[in-house]
Amino acid sequence: MRICTMDYYKELCSDVRFVEGLTGCLNCGTCTAICAAAEFYNYDPRIIAETVQTRDNNKIEELLTGNTIWYCGECMSCKTRCPRNNAPGLLIMALRALSVKTGLFTESEKGRQQLVLKRTMGEWILKYGYCLYREEMSMADHPEQGPTWEWQNNNLDKLFERFGATYKGDGPGPLRKVPAEALAELRKIFDVTGASDLFNFIEKKSAEKAEELGLEFNEKLDCGYLNQIYNLDSGIHTKDQAI
Ligand code: SF4
Ligand code: SF4
Repeated sequence: MRICTMDYYKELCSDVRFVEGLTGCLNCGTCTAICAAAEFYNYDPRIIAETVQTRDNNKIEELLTGNTIWYCGECMSCKTRCPRNNAPGLLIMALRALSVKTGLFTESEKGRQQLVLKRTMGEWILKYGYCLYREEMSMADHPEQGPTWEWQNNNLDKLFERFGATYKGDGPGPLRKVPAEALAELRKIFDVTGASDLFNFIEKKSAEKAEELGLEFNEKLDCGYLNQIYNLDSGIHTKDQAI
């Protein structure tokens, strides 16, 4: 059994999202009834609120090392319905941040996927100024998009012209090339806010987990560890799968 080395509740209380998200849960279940993620995943926001308000370090650690905190879609429907003005979605954000900060995210199948997000959307922000960059998204990784993407890929210039975009061009307009000075400023923001250190920490903890699992780990997007965490589905996450 893992020995808790941190007062997780105290740590969570230093996160403004946690303070705003929990005024005291009465277990009514309204958030669960409205939650889109609870409809699909083996997930219950009422239990998240109930668990964190126990202040039980071991129970909170179970959340930090588990899959459930990664199921929420952060839609905030729960915030608008809760009769006690709680927001399980905000609690989830604070729990996710703490899971990453403590390195416990690598203990769960869904938590490990943080590396994919860091190496794609996270790095695209710094490289291009956009969190979603069309040309970096491979069709092979997103088969759910079907033949529409293939058509788009072959007609990007014409397509963006019809939307009035300045696609990869200078000057104003959607999808314009983000100037080097702006990218440098973004990098600086990441550095001074600690986001760059957090990115490095995600890499470090992921490398350790890859070694533990005996999987290839390098900077490429298709190394053994990345492939495994991107594609693995152990069959325990959704309501139609066995627990
Ligand atoms: S709606 Fe609010 S009070 Fe009801 S279970 Fe969810 S968090 Fe608790
Ligand atoms: S924010 Fe998360 S917990 Fe709240 S309703 Fe949306 S998916 Fe559910």
